[in-house]
Amino acid sequence: MFDQGLTVLRIRGIPIRLHITLLIFLPYIAYLAASQFSVIAMSLGLPREAMRLPPLAWGAILAVGLFVAVLAHELAHSFVALKNGVKVRSITLMMLGGVSWFERDDPEHEAWMAFAGPLMSFGIALASYVAFRLVPAPTELGAALLAFAITNAILGVFNLLPAFPMDGGRVLRGLLLRRVGRARATRIATATGKVMAVIFGLLGLLSWNFILVLIAVFVYMGASAEQARSSTRDMIRGIPIARFMTDRLGVAYADESPRAVAERLLRDNLVGARVMDDPHDGEDRREIGVVTVWDLARQLERGVAPVTVGAVMPVDVPRARASDDASRSIEALASGEASAVAVLDEGEHVIGIVTPAEIQRALALAGALGGLRAGR
Ligand SMILES: [Zn+2]
Repeated sequence: MFDQGLTVLRIRGIPIRLHITLLIFLPYIAYLAASQFSVIAMSLGLPREAMRLPPLAWGAILAVGLFVAVLAHELAHSFVALKNGVKVRSITLMMLGGVSWFERDDPEHEAWMAFAGPLMSFGIALASYVAFRLVPAPTELGAALLAFAITNAILGVFNLLPAFPMDGGRVLRGLLLRRVGRARATRIATATGKVMAVIFGLLGLLSWNFILVLIAVFVYMGASAEQARSSTRDMIRGIPIARFMTDRLGVAYADESPRAVAERLLRDNLVGARVMDDPHDGEDRREIGVVTVWDLARQLERGVAPVTVGAVMPVDVPRARASDDASRSIEALASGEASAVAVLDEGEHVIGIVTPAEIQRALALAGALGGLRAGR
């Protein structure tokens, strides 16, 4: 859905990325934080004349602090994931907060993984509140600490609302999992998410709260996408991935130009090519991977295509055995992380690929014919 953004640092190997929308949004958050700061300073009996910094400066400090707090919130999710053996691809900070990208779902630990973030926000809120109490007389710093405590507490509470894909919705799904199974748990959580999205949307429109309307759209789209992914997963569960495979593959040499390979695939009506490495003296060329028409098209559209197919070829193509359950490969394809899954035979040779288009084609036919298992 979003571009990944610019990597600014790595924490325990996790790339932390800043999304462009964050930079656009930060001044707005600073403005909101400044007005919140003014209200709190006034309630503490702090006259404007006594302040060293204008409220807008405090707003900017609080806005940056808030995004650091959001990063801590996301890191809490990520550390629980790492502890359960789930790799974290990256954390992206964007306008509506942070998103952690995990390598795979972990239904077993989802509730705890989702709860860790809000728990961190509450922890930050509590620490700021304690620091506020320790500041002797009402000062600007005290007002800022109190504002920070309140914002983080709100962040924690808001994230715990059962609005899938927000944290609370994930906690709900994780808790339901054992009682009703994954498919029903997802159905309940995403349906609740959609209801919450409508409520957010109405409240946002009534109160002219632009952020709340955006969150409503984000929640609604996220819940719909997860529901679609989940029903696809259900439909193809237990079916060997080879049933969705296409073997319309050509051959490409790693040192060929992407354009030449693309032209050949188009002419021969193929969906991809096995890539063979450069010949070493005397040795035969070895198969080093696969490249799909989608990989080639994406690179050629960018204009500055690398000179060789070897450089275009994705390095981390997910692999599956022909007999593997197709539902296990759906995550990588549905998230857009991979353009194809390579299907291997017993001798680790690529015998075909599965792309989202192949699965959609099979599902469309199965829908018309009344079920995948009945087909064929
Ligand atoms: Zn969270």
